[in-house]
Amino acid sequence: MIPVHAPLVLDCGAGGTVSRSGRHFLQIPGPTNVPDRVLRAIDAPVIDHRGPEFAELGHAVLEGMRAIFQTRSHVVIYPSSGTGACEAALSNALSPGDRVVIMETGWFSHVAWRQVAERLGLLVDYAPGTWRRGASPDDLEARLAPDRQHEIKAVVVVHNETSTGAASRIADLRAVMNRLRHPALLIVDTVSSLASIDFQLDEWEVDVAVSGSQKGLMVPPGLGFNAVSEKALKASAAKKVKSTSTYWDWHEMIRVNASGYFPYTPATNLLYGLREAIAMLQEEGLPNVFHRHARHGEATRAAVRAWGLEILCEEPCEYSNVLTAVLMPEGHNADRLRTLILERFDMSLGTGLGKLAGKAFRIGHLGSFNDLMLAGTLGGVEMGLAAAGVPHRPGGVAAALARLAQVD
Ligand code: PLP
Repeated sequence: MIPVHAPLVLDCGAGGTVSRSGRHFLQIPGPTNVPDRVLRAIDAPVIDHRGPEFAELGHAVLEGMRAIFQTRSHVVIYPSSGTGACEAALSNALSPGDRVVIMETGWFSHVAWRQVAERLGLLVDYAPGTWRRGASPDDLEARLAPDRQHEIKAVVVVHNETSTGAASRIADLRAVMNRLRHPALLIVDTVSSLASIDFQLDEWEVDVAVSGSQKGLMVPPGLGFNAVSEKALKASAAKKVKSTSTYWDWHEMIRVNASGYFPYTPATNLLYGLREAIAMLQEEGLPNVFHRHARHGEATRAAVRAWGLEILCEEPCEYSNVLTAVLMPEGHNADRLRTLILERFDMSLGTGLGKLAGKAFRIGHLGSFNDLMLAGTLGGVEMGLAAAGVPHRPGGVAAALARLAQVD
């Protein structure tokens, strides 16, 4: 594989030589392209995180993130990846030995949740899924209904499963919990849905939402988030086994955040970037951000259908608007296609994760993204399919452009 910053002229074997000029297309489903405005905001002197200027920045990002999570409750920002924020949620909300239902949706429900939960000593009831759908409300009901003693303390759902391109219907899952009057906490992973697909913490009565900076928020990797309901905060304070973690502790964080500061050194320059990204999202307006992603999702799926390829997600009402996972025809390897596209067209696509390795590739269409970037992305895929000899029909890009014109 050729590194992104390789010398200017690439040898593409049978396809001849191509000079690498223009911008790299980073079309994995996160980290996403960082807008120049955000990059410029990050490029500033570091300030004293205990000095007078800092509190203004702290207040601005905390308040801004509340609007993005659509909550009036608490938001906690860690200098961490998304996995760190998952660990923070579980270790604050639950005690070792607690029972938790985790809905299997794909790779991330496993590595970011099941694995982390088990290492924290939680007793995981992993509700099986096919990796081709979101979490099923019926399956959740089947897990919760027999639990009359309320031994299950939390339900964990990945809102947008980044490995499959299937989105779970959080409001429907919450409705099941309410119908059963089950008091378990609802913990939702919004790492790849926040600021791309509608997510409403308060309205959907989500207790803890977890996210990261590097996807819909358009900030480089390095910030992790927990949005925490009052119910989750109380449950955490009342835990039978107190958390031993200083780093992830919600209570200390929220106490110090009240004055705009952090209990330990925050990622100052990423917070400058976050402040700018929030301003951009506010200028566009969240409903328009969601609509933009929906249009690009629709158009991408139109392209995949026109190519005669299969969309991994089987349920139309669970299609992800931030990425599309595409199944390869039998006998063709997705990673070979991705490598060819990277080498010849300088575009990165998402790899198949876990049991999808080699079988599927993922087109990211989220974050700082527009119609022409989508046209370029799909153009790269279509040229790659032809160059790699993958059986397909031409006309995917044209179908996508036609769909873009329709969806307004
Ligand atoms: N959850 C989901 C849905 C993700 O997509 C990811 C990463 O892509 C994670 C959790 C883990 O985040 P990170 O890789 O930042 O630790």
